[in-house]
Amino acid sequence: MTRPDVDVAIIGAGFAGLGAAIKLLQTGRTSLLVFERANEVGGTWRENTYPGCACDIPSHLYSFSFAPNPNWSRKFSPQAEILAYLKNCVEQYDLQPYIRYNTDIIRTEFLADQALWQLTDRAGNVLTARVVVGATGPLNRPSIPKLKGLDVFTGKTFHSSNWDHTVDLAGKRVAVIGTGASAIQIVPELAKTVSQLSVFQRTAPYITPRLNTSYSAFWQGIYRRFPAAQRAHRHVQYWLNELVGMAFLGNETISKVATAQSRKHLEASISDPDLRQKVTPDYKIGCKRVLVSDDYYPALNRPNVDLVTERIAELSPTGIVTRDGTERPVDLIIFSTGFVAADIICDLHITGLEGRSLFDEWLKTGPEAYMGMTAEGFPNLVFLVGPNTGLGHNSIVHMIESQVAYLLDYLRLLDQAGENAYLNVKPDVQRVYNNDIQEQLNGTVWSSGCQSWYISQTGRNTTIWPGLTVTYRKLTRRVKPEAYEARRAINYEAADKITG
Ligand SMILES: Cc1cc2nc3c(=O)[nH]c(=O)nc-3n(C[C@H](O)[C@H](O)[C@H](O)COP(=O)(O)OP(=O)(O)OC[C@H]3O[C@@H](n4cnc5c(N)ncnc54)[C@H](O)[C@@H]3O)c2cc1C
Repeated sequence: MTRPDVDVAIIGAGFAGLGAAIKLLQTGRTSLLVFERANEVGGTWRENTYPGCACDIPSHLYSFSFAPNPNWSRKFSPQAEILAYLKNCVEQYDLQPYIRYNTDIIRTEFLADQALWQLTDRAGNVLTARVVVGATGPLNRPSIPKLKGLDVFTGKTFHSSNWDHTVDLAGKRVAVIGTGASAIQIVPELAKTVSQLSVFQRTAPYITPRLNTSYSAFWQGIYRRFPAAQRAHRHVQYWLNELVGMAFLGNETISKVATAQSRKHLEASISDPDLRQKVTPDYKIGCKRVLVSDDYYPALNRPNVDLVTERIAELSPTGIVTRDGTERPVDLIIFSTGFVAADIICDLHITGLEGRSLFDEWLKTGPEAYMGMTAEGFPNLVFLVGPNTGLGHNSIVHMIESQVAYLLDYLRLLDQAGENAYLNVKPDVQRVYNNDIQEQLNGTVWSSGCQSWYISQTGRNTTIWPGLTVTYRKLTRRVKPEAYEARRAINYEAADKITG
């Protein structure tokens, strides 16, 4: 029988990969490796270092339930603190020996004759695993618009997730393209330093007050001494977010309250009628991610900040030209244009049964998986934060923990199936599940007609979970054995002889 080099190979060391590794170790599954292409853990929180970067789900909720941190400094803690938290988890749970840094997995191929995955990294090293966990992240492939003239612009450009800290911003004329979650954190910070800031907006976001209170030493002490108090605080935040989520799922009353709150915030912050009109969203709240900020609108009021709603025509060597013919000279362009999320295009090649290529298939059909985790034809492969498991209203860490519980149950089922077995989700089960998902999306705000990064090239929403997270948790509590077909390695005997 062919023995794998490692039982479980996890690709990615962000919240998802680390959460999975911790739980696997805690349940005695020590044959595991985490492959990370960078030289440190953290994923999103390693890559995004722009000024003002912070979470927009409260920290006590945007962290593992099993690793509470009583010391969060603020309701929405800054990037450095979240990265430190993840690094601390690595130390606290002794993960370091299991992580292989600077290891970019470029190919994984399922060897059906041995029921093993063969992983290849960029340096050409090869390793086999019984199960692969894809924790490569939803938001780390920058989406940069193909603007005419990008090659002739002589100033500096970079994406918000790839901040160039060597650039001195003081006194510069800067353009921020985009007004999404990152931009509204960046703009208030830049406005304080640069001489002129032009913010290019395609669609106005809904913004609600952030109320980013700091936790006093008193409260941190309470949470340290009384973990139940911290848990209660987390629960309140969780259920408040679930309540808001109901607005996106079709509850008109909550939707109206949320819209009114956002409008009130806008009107209290901006008095210029022209600017007010420009920042007033013209679609239903929640169709695009609702943002939280107290300082974005005030930043737009500053004399050195200009909100541009005219579409960009092209870049000139020294600036940005809009369709009305106006040229704005700029020294630096920051693309705060988000990520390619819906198409899950990855530079990792995944080959499953009969030589099928997962991402080629997903490009044609739009990404889909059963429970957002397992895909037919690609056995013993479990995705974390896969298709239709993203959120518009609550902490993704809650979804990750649901998925990790499912992964553990999946491994239990696989063990029961015997050695050299693999579990392939049944095609009709996957189809019915995904038809249901698309049907459920029909009744939600995400199908109300706005243009958003949730929609894939195929026109389908392949990113959002169309329900409450509590529903997903219930659904993923146990693996349904009848959803999977258990098979044995095709060449079981032969494989046995090869390895002796
Ligand atoms: C600026 C920003 C703020 C956000 N704030 C919130 C928030 O407040 N609340 C919320 O719920 N969500 C938020 N998100 C979404 C965020 O992406 C998720 O919350 C979470 O961090 C995803 O974790 P992950 O482990 O799935 O992915 P990531 O954090 O992206 O980690 C994936 C890891 O996999 C590695 N990797 C990828 N491919 C390979 C490969 N082929 N080989 C080896 N390694 C590989 C990457 O280097 C990375 O380290 C935010 C996203 C951004 C960009």
